[in-house]
Amino acid sequence: MELEDRLAGVDARIADAARAAGRDPQEITRIVVTKFHPARLVEDLYRLGVRDVGENRQQELSEKSLTIGDREGLRWHFIGQAQTNKAKAIRAAAAAVHSVDRPKIADALDAAGGSDDPPLDVLLQVNLTADPGRGGVAERELEGLATHVAGCRTLRMRGVMAVAPLDEDPAAAFERLAACAAVVRSVDPAATWISAGMTADFPQAIAAGATHLRIGSAITGQRPPHG
Ligand SMILES: *Cc1c(COP(=O)(O)O)cnc(C)c1O
Repeated sequence: MELEDRLAGVDARIADAARAAGRDPQEITRIVVTKFHPARLVEDLYRLGVRDVGENRQQELSEKSLTIGDREGLRWHFIGQAQTNKAKAIRAAAAAVHSVDRPKIADALDAAGGSDDPPLDVLLQVNLTADPGRGGVAERELEGLATHVAGCRTLRMRGVMAVAPLDEDPAAAFERLAACAAVVRSVDPAATWISAGMTADFPQAIAAGATHLRIGSAITGQRPPHG
């Protein structure tokens, strides 16, 4: 199947899931995750009308965004684990960072903002698993992190992000994420984004209120092998 057909197929499923949940498909942003694929794929997607793309490694993000250059309306979303020493590079390339999970990375992204830069959109990544080794802030520490990020002057706290655990029904996990989103809105009512839903579980994420989907292989096809 061609890229164009896969994209159209996913968008049709997004619209169906939204309508089934009584939601307007227009209020949902579909981010195409292009990690491990060449920059060329981003070009092809852009030509098909895609404006939001996601990367999970700083170096790949920086290289590809440099290769592609300035494109009207194109937004790069950083969705991977962020390291403080990469904050400046991430900020230089990304319009939004979905993976803020500790005060230190928030502070590093905040400090990387110049006085003329627009605020950086950030989401707080929540760890929905019981494994503290996974990315994301523990649910019980979320409110404290939200209060911290709300105080970072060059960051605009947008909401929450999560990956569904492998060993839990995604619908149940995304319901817990919706409760986390309410905690963050209690700190800042404008933080309304919920970034959730991948190839395997985006209909469940839409049912639970996701506003931003991060979809890779269903659109791009299988990812090339990577190191
Ligand atoms: C790779 C990745 C995705 C997309 O995964 P698919 O299963 O290919 O849709 C979404 N979110 C994150 C954080 C990822 O790393």
